[in-house]
Amino acid sequence: MRLVRLGERGKEIPGVQLSDSSTVLDARSVTSDFDPEFFASGGVERLRTAMKNGQLAPLSDAGLRIGAPIGKPEKIVCIGLNYRNHARESGMEVPNEPIIFMKAPNTLVGPHDDVWIPRKSQKTDWEIELAVVMGTKVSYLASPAEALACVAGYAISNDVSEREFQLERGGQWDKGKSCATFNPLGPWLVTADEVPDPQRLEMFLEVNGQRVQNENTSDMIFSVSHLIWYVSQFMVLEPGDVVNTGTPAGVGLGLRPPRYLSPGDEMRLGIDGLGEQRSRAIATP
Ligand code: ZN
Repeated sequence: MRLVRLGERGKEIPGVQLSDSSTVLDARSVTSDFDPEFFASGGVERLRTAMKNGQLAPLSDAGLRIGAPIGKPEKIVCIGLNYRNHARESGMEVPNEPIIFMKAPNTLVGPHDDVWIPRKSQKTDWEIELAVVMGTKVSYLASPAEALACVAGYAISNDVSEREFQLERGGQWDKGKSCATFNPLGPWLVTADEVPDPQRLEMFLEVNGQRVQNENTSDMIFSVSHLIWYVSQFMVLEPGDVVNTGTPAGVGLGLRPPRYLSPGDEMRLGIDGLGEQRSRAIATP
């Protein structure tokens, strides 16, 4: 299933986007939102049953904004430098263990919403990533083999980053990662049953029509299952939590010369089977 949320920010309606038509089915008879409570209470299975039984009516979605496909996650966990060529372009060592940092959950926006260039920013950058949304609570997983069964689904994520704030202003990376609008997500959360192998997905990102990132998730240093297992040794992952699994080469920081977002720049990004995002950079209003 493709879970989608439509409408104004903060008031999105949960729905299911049919894969063979533009129809969206209204999921409000099953849940008020695709939030942590929905995932924790077996909501995905309830939704599947309701769909099978023909209990969901079409939603008149004409003109409605597409929101992030999940609401109010407790946390967004990010993995740094998880593609060899991106570590190289960043001038960093390939890590021996996954690098973990956090992103504020209120950075989530819809896949086509404007990305705000922060005040005083000169180095706002893009990062296409495969996002994993947790379906169950996970703590101290015994092995990576148990990890994928705990995943609700997958989505496209743009881990927008301000490189000066991240790398030149001291401290941890978080300052350059949690600015308003810095995590476009979606258009859909594609349930895990429809993504049999998360390590075989082509991904791309274009800026103003120029393809700058183009990679396959097979090139990750640490696989999705390894990452979920690894993160669970250090923190409790809750249903609805997002894990951004790292970006490949081709970010603005890695270009020669580096190139960053200016107001009016358009990003288009996609991952096999997960749809496409189109967003525009604007100055922070
Ligand atoms: Zn990232």
